[in-house]
Amino acid sequence: MKDIDWGSLGFGYVQTDKRFVANFKDGAWDEGALVDDPMVTMSECAGVLQYAQTCFEGLKAYRTEDGRIVTFRPDLNAARMADSCRRLEMPVFPEDKWVEAVVETIKANIDFVPPYGSGATLYIRPYMFGINPVIGVKPANDYQFRVFCTPVGPYFKGGVKPITIRVSDFDRAAPNGTGHIKAGLNYAMSLHAIVDAHNQGFAENMYLDPKTRTKVEETGGANFIFITKDGTLVTPKSDSILPSITRRSLCVVAEKYLGMKVEHREVFFDEIKDFAECGLCGTAAVISPVGKVVDHGNEICFPAGMEEMGPWTKKLYDTLTGIQMGRLEAPEGWLVEIK
Ligand SMILES: *Cc1c(COP(=O)(O)O)cnc(C)c1O
Repeated sequence: MKDIDWGSLGFGYVQTDKRFVANFKDGAWDEGALVDDPMVTMSECAGVLQYAQTCFEGLKAYRTEDGRIVTFRPDLNAARMADSCRRLEMPVFPEDKWVEAVVETIKANIDFVPPYGSGATLYIRPYMFGINPVIGVKPANDYQFRVFCTPVGPYFKGGVKPITIRVSDFDRAAPNGTGHIKAGLNYAMSLHAIVDAHNQGFAENMYLDPKTRTKVEETGGANFIFITKDGTLVTPKSDSILPSITRRSLCVVAEKYLGMKVEHREVFFDEIKDFAECGLCGTAAVISPVGKVVDHGNEICFPAGMEEMGPWTKKLYDTLTGIQMGRLEAPEGWLVEIK
């Protein structure tokens, strides 16, 4: 293992030894290879620089309790990136090779996988972009697919605390737009909203559906989960929400491990005051509990309070992280071991 102070790592870029690079040229992908050079060289007129033709994924590798190195459901990331590519008129990198590239990149940087129990993980970032010169608005001809990884620290230092979020007046996605894919452009347009939220003292934005502004969608980078007073897990359904792998996994955990009822349906903003618990879910934090939602000065406080996770959220969190860390048996195919 590298000599890194794992406990004090933040969520920032640390350059590791190797990265995977494949190129799409003349209508075909090359084999791709692991390389040393972390720099990307491209035309000043590259498609990605002019018209933001790029998409990405994010997943983690970590050590389990019994000392294995694993990654979590990479096949779903591969499938989601394929969907992103199709929507952005980019060539799909074959899903099986995609998973192989991720595994090879982890293997090549194995000494950067943090120790079990440190809370730190190896974050893996696959991404693709149009690389040849594009000046008329059209898809690029040539693309590059890369995978790098970087060790990141525990998301919550000094324990998990519920956050306060606000209802945003900005939209993150258009109806029939690109909200359901992991496109860089969705993040570019959310930056102003998140900086503004932080300036006003809020941790995140709750985005409502852009068409009617009556239904809960998601935050800039995490899906919502709600728990009813009788212990049902409710997750918002909409075509403009990014299908979180963490959220989909939590729904399985709730039903199969905890015997909870699960509903994936439209959630009206008006009904959230009746929920017992609220959280945000995504790869980075797994679940961040939400204690309070502020809607233009009107506060909605969840009964679980501002001190700790609600009891159902905690059960979901402990069970999913238990599966990820090898303390509980994982459903078939969820953990891919790096050997
Ligand atoms: C990546 C992402 C998520 C979380 O997805 P996971 O697969 O759980 O990491 C949620 N919302 C948005 C907008 C995202 O980009």
